[in-house]
Amino acid sequence: MNRVFSHPQLAIVVQMRDVLAQAGIDAHLRNEYAAGAAGELAPIDTWPELWLARPRDTERALALIASVQQQSDEPDWQCASCNSDSPASFDYCWRCGADRRAGR
Ligand SMILES: [Zn+2]
Repeated sequence: MNRVFSHPQLAIVVQMRDVLAQAGIDAHLRNEYAAGAAGELAPIDTWPELWLARPRDTERALALIASVQQQSDEPDWQCASCNSDSPASFDYCWRCGADRRAGR
C-alpha cells in the first residue's frame, strides 16, 4: 500500500479519505488513534495517515489531494449548525456533516 496523505488533524484526513472514496479510490486510515489523546497535536511521526489499498490509484489520488489542497488557500467557512470552522475545500461540515450552503 502507498501512503498518500498525512495531517495532524484527524478530521482533515478523514475528509480526504471521503474525497478519494467519492472518486472510487479505496483508502485506509492509519495512526487514527495516535493523535489527540491529550488534546494536543501529535508529533509528525504519529500523524494520522491515509494509505491506498491499490497502488495503481496513487497518481489519481495525489492529483485529487493536490486539487483539494489548492482550494484550501481559501478562508475557512463557519458551519451554520454547529459553528465549527471547516476548510474551504470541504462542502460539508467536518463535525456535524451539515451542507456548507445550508442556512445561507
Ligand atoms: Zn457543523
